[in-house]
Order: sequence, then C-alpha cells, then structure tokens
Amino acid sequence: MATMDGPGPHATRPLLNRRLAEFGTTIFAEMSALAAATGAINLGQGFPDTDGPEEVREAAIRAIRDGRGNQYPPGPGVPELRTAISEHQRRFHGLTVDPDTGILVTAGATEAIAASLLALVEPGDEVVALEPYYDSYAACVAMAGGHRVPVTLRPRDGAYHLDLDELRDAITDRTRLLLLNTPHNPTGTVLTREELTAIAALAVERDLLVITDEVYEHLVFDGEHLPLAGFPGMRERTLTISSAGKTFSYTGWKVGWVTGPAELVTAVRSAKQFLTYVASGPFQYAVAEGLRLPDAYFTGLRDDLRLKRDLLSAGLADAGFAVYRPAGTYFVTTDIRPLGEEDGFQFCRKLPERCGVVAIPNAVFYDHREQGAPFVRFAFCKKEAVLREAVDRLRKLAG
Ligand SMILES: *Cc1c(COP(=O)(O)O)cnc(C)c1O
Repeated sequence: MATMDGPGPHATRPLLNRRLAEFGTTIFAEMSALAAATGAINLGQGFPDTDGPEEVREAAIRAIRDGRGNQYPPGPGVPELRTAISEHQRRFHGLTVDPDTGILVTAGATEAIAASLLALVEPGDEVVALEPYYDSYAACVAMAGGHRVPVTLRPRDGAYHLDLDELRDAITDRTRLLLLNTPHNPTGTVLTREELTAIAALAVERDLLVITDEVYEHLVFDGEHLPLAGFPGMRERTLTISSAGKTFSYTGWKVGWVTGPAELVTAVRSAKQFLTYVASGPFQYAVAEGLRLPDAYFTGLRDDLRLKRDLLSAGLADAGFAVYRPAGTYFVTTDIRPLGEEDGFQFCRKLPERCGVVAIPNAVFYDHREQGAPFVRFAFCKKEAVLREAVDRLRKLAG
C-alpha cells in the first residue's frame, strides 16, 4: 500500500501540469478571503448583492416543482430556452439564429468559452485576445494547447482604446482565432461601430474564426452594444457567447449560451458534451421566461447600474483616484498614481485595513503585468447604500 512518506510517484515532477502551472489560485479567492477576514466591503468580484427579477426566480421554483429539468436536459439545452434565445437575438440585435442548430446552452459563459477554445484550437495555434483579459481566457487557451497573443487596450483621455494597427500586426499565419470581449471586462470599453467594422474586415481578410464574449450586452451606459456577428462576413465565422448571470443577476445559476452557424456550434458541442454534458436544468426554463421580459426590465437594469456607475466613479474621483469611467459592464478602472501609489497589488492588499474596501489589481488581467501595475478595478453591481458606504470609507485616502 502506498504511504505518505518516501519518494512516491509524484516526487519526480510537479503535480500541476505545465499548461496550468502559471495559473495559481485566482486573485478573487485571495481578495474575497481578505474581505471576509477584515469585514471590508467587497468591490472585488463582480457579482450582484441583490437577486434578479422575482418572476424569473419563481419560474425556477415552479420548474423544479413541476419536474421540468430535474433530470438531464437535452444536450443542446431545453427547446424552450433555445427558442427564447433565438427570439432574443432577433428582438434586441436583429440577428437570425436557428434554435435547433445554431444554439448551445452551457454551464455559464465560462463553459462556453472553455468548450469553444477546446473545440477550435489545435496545439500551437495562436489566439489573439484583447488585454487586459477576463481571467479564464488565458487558462482556457493554455488548456487547449494554444498560444495567447495579447493586443493591449491603452488608457488615454479617460478611456481604454483598441489600436487597430496593433491588432493587425498581432495576426500571423498561425493565428486561428480572435477572442473578443465587448462590452469589455475589466476596462468597461464598448467597441464602436468603426472598430467592429475594421475587426470584421480583418477577420474576413485573414480568414479567422472569432469568439466574442458579449455577456454585458445589456449593460451599456454610453453608446450601444453592437454584436460582431451582425457585421459583413461575420455570421459564418463567429461564435457569440452570452449568459443569464449578468443579464438577470443570477450568477449562481450558471446558464450561458453560444450562438453561431451550425458547423461551429456542432464543434463546440463536441467539447462541451465531455465537460459538463448538461447543466442547470430547471434554471434553463426560468431563463427562457427572463429573456421574454418586457423591454422595461432590460432598460431598468441598465439605468440602475448607470446610476451606480456614476455614484462610484464620482466617489473614487473625490477620493483622489484618476477614474476611467466605463461605457459598459459592472466595473470601473482607476489609476492610483494620483494617490502617490504605484503598485496595485500592494495597494489592494493594504486597502481593507486602510479603509475597509476590497478591490482587484488590474495587473492580474495582463501578460504584460507592468502595463496594468498602477490600475485597480472596483465593481459597482452592489446596493446603493453599500456603494455610498464604500465611497465614504474611500474618502479617507484623500487625507
Ligand atoms: C462574468 C463573465 C463571464 C462568466 O459568465 P458565467 O455565465 O458566470 O460563467 C464570462 N465573461 C466575462 C467577460 C464575464 O465578465
């Protein structure tokens, strides 16, 4: 029998494989533990502190009671949800998606991202992605054996901008796909019609596949969200990812989806069936009802978060941060240099003790960590009273 001492089979090499070795525990775990230990207000991780619409929650309860989705749902997702997603794409974006062949329901957008990359990337393929990245992108590209190639969004005039020449230069003969995210987490940038037109032209010219993460599609405060799949030449090469987590404030339900042309969606399904196979049965029925809520729900969610963005942005500016006011998402990025600070990691580790607030150092979202060093991200998807208290506490920094 194996014992705990002596050289075992694990002694000769590290346990975690080399693809994942660079990804330790996420910063969110560290910072949330710090929030719990110090009683600080957690503006680190982006989850709402109130539940979403009552009728959607009731629909989930009803589905469980009625025995809908309590056993394995169909692999592509329950037909009711696929129909609702198809209707949603037409109603909000004017896009036509086939509910039978063009939609795959996943365990959150997270699984949609993982399954898409595992399905489409060969070892050695390059994946071009906007940096700073949502944290799962780099790990999923690595698990697929791909190489990530960052194109850095640059802060300028109070917002982050994509340099289209830099994007063009990043594409090589080994580029398999573009991995985009708009509205963009963590910077809050919403890609414009001009930028998306240029990206689409480039994807067509270089014959690239595109995965576009649009989970914040309903959270645009300035300008508008334009799905990349609606641009010329994009329909046949684009997988669009979204999720009920952010749109309905039920991040724990893990209902996401990917839409696109049949061949691409079929490929993603090949990977997805061996990850979770299926998930979130009863919640799928509930999300179908959510997607059919009247426009007032979607505009109400957005208007509420816009006020919260403004409240937190103003408070952060008063406290002495330079603020990059986001056009969309749950997050505001700040520059700590006006406070006499340089290092976001150190700053975030001390912040709970200094004034009882938790934030996330943007450096964790970069390969080029130095690019993100003096930036710190705060989430504003919290109750107004919580944000007011956080702003009061942060005022201490102004001295
Ligand atoms: C929250 C988030 C996700 C993950 O969505 P889930 O549905 O919770 O898995 C994916 N991408 C971005 C950009 C996000 O902010």
